[in-house]
Amino acid sequence: MTTKLPLTHLDDLSFDNIFIRDLPGDTETNNHPRQVLAACYSQVLPTKVVNPQLVAVATEVAELLDLSPELCDSEDFTEVFTGNRLSRGMEPYALCYGGHQFGHWAGQLGDGRAINLGEIINSKGERWALQLKGAGPTPYSRTADGLAVLRSSIREFLCSEAMHHLGVPTTRALSLTLTGESVIRDMFYNGNRKAEPGAVVCRVAPSFTRFGSFQILTARRDHTLLKQLADHTLRTHYSHLGEPCSAVYLAWFTEICKKTAEMIVHWQRVGFVHGVMNTDNMSILGLTIDYGPYGWLENYDPNWTPNTTDAEHRRYRFGNQPEIAYWNLGQLANALYPLIQQVEPLQDALNVYTETFEQGWQAMMAEKLGLNAYQPETDESLFNDLIALLQRVETDMTVFYRQLAMIPADNQTDDERLILPLMLAYYVPDQLSADYKTHLHDWLNRYIKRVQQDNSSDIERRTRMHAVNPKYVLRNYLAQLAIDKAETGDFTMVNELLDCLRRPYDEQPDNENYAEKRPDWARQRAGCSMLSCSS
Ligand code: AMP
Ligand code: MG
Repeated sequence: MTTKLPLTHLDDLSFDNIFIRDLPGDTETNNHPRQVLAACYSQVLPTKVVNPQLVAVATEVAELLDLSPELCDSEDFTEVFTGNRLSRGMEPYALCYGGHQFGHWAGQLGDGRAINLGEIINSKGERWALQLKGAGPTPYSRTADGLAVLRSSIREFLCSEAMHHLGVPTTRALSLTLTGESVIRDMFYNGNRKAEPGAVVCRVAPSFTRFGSFQILTARRDHTLLKQLADHTLRTHYSHLGEPCSAVYLAWFTEICKKTAEMIVHWQRVGFVHGVMNTDNMSILGLTIDYGPYGWLENYDPNWTPNTTDAEHRRYRFGNQPEIAYWNLGQLANALYPLIQQVEPLQDALNVYTETFEQGWQAMMAEKLGLNAYQPETDESLFNDLIALLQRVETDMTVFYRQLAMIPADNQTDDERLILPLMLAYYVPDQLSADYKTHLHDWLNRYIKRVQQDNSSDIERRTRMHAVNPKYVLRNYLAQLAIDKAETGDFTMVNELLDCLRRPYDEQPDNENYAEKRPDWARQRAGCSMLSCSS
């Protein structure tokens, strides 16, 4: 019997829970914190909540799962995606993984507040794992409560979808719900404990396996299970590489290096700072995963990190992300070593990361500037000088690139008029000294000459630049405004942002306010430029 599409009942979702079928689970079934050995997961039920309420649904993700809009509106949807009811085929479990946190091996971490519901196969034959974040404690919760608060859940929900629409590989978010219960958090770990609304996000991805999923097994010298998890991942998500063997493990690791490089190029393109690039937050599929204290560059500052927990060493600052991804891949290489047992080819794969990143970065910068292709003789210094200029005075990255597309290259314009479109990007007009302006004019004149070599018209160039330089990103202060409203029970801004960020590259005359650079009040406000891991 075939089910009519789209689905009108969640019990009609077609589950195929291959992860737990293929791999060994925890033999202990009581839900208490512990070390879980010789297993990739523990079966655990979401905690029931008193008063689930739907805040928002990403309709595109619902469509991926073949869910009808009426179904998403139903009470059953809210019950299921807050964890109150299991629909047919759901077999909940939390994943076991470890990780390096801020450069130090942390041992077992695991899904401390994420509970997988299972994997569905949609009508196109695609596999999607569903996971509730904030649905209660698991054996991996250590001393924490397994819960999530509304503010961090809004941030995860909106940013996953914003990143997807920007063309950045990412996990997705189906729904955001309130649990009706409150959760105690000390937002800046300074003794200010506060009750906040509890919330759950349903995340969706082909797989939630992380670098740390392999690391924990190698750290425990469980090479049998390491091979089982690697083979499962290969057969399920990298089957085009062939049946597992030493050469295939290497090809697989090389592909992970490439995918990771491509993801980081995207982050640098759109000005995204992940904030906690620990190895447990690195996806084996090269997806952006775990939206915690992330942020978006406002004024272009490669040293910026939104994460106050990392304020001292700034390990995860914007400009360091490419380096950290390489370091993380090095840790994954160590974890996969027992399967391959040769250092040199693993190092070659790591070099593929570096090459892919460098070439990708050059091509991406050329695109951001509307050039046909990267030309090393002229473009290396053109890019570097621009990056130096962007840091000399407070310059909004997003506005600057968007407005650069408006600079005319077809006709001669005098210098004063030339820079007019860029004025919108500056935070402190007083910083625009005569010396700065001279440098800017020089750079713009070089840029115009370079653009003229390509023989593309201003209109063509603008169209191409607008397709890679977003007008709308989830600015830190916008997310915070949506949170402020939501905490009073008004979810309109969450839904407005979700809608606006669906078309980040389009001009949206009704949403000009969401494209404005950070207002002054948000410069030092908590949640706008400063976040912590407390979520
Ligand atoms: P994160 O910094 O979000 O990647 O989290 C690091 C580890 O801490 C992961 O194992 C999380 O599952 C766990 N964790 C974070 N917050 C909580 C929480 N409120 N309850 C239980 N575990 C948590
Ligand atoms: Mg994490």
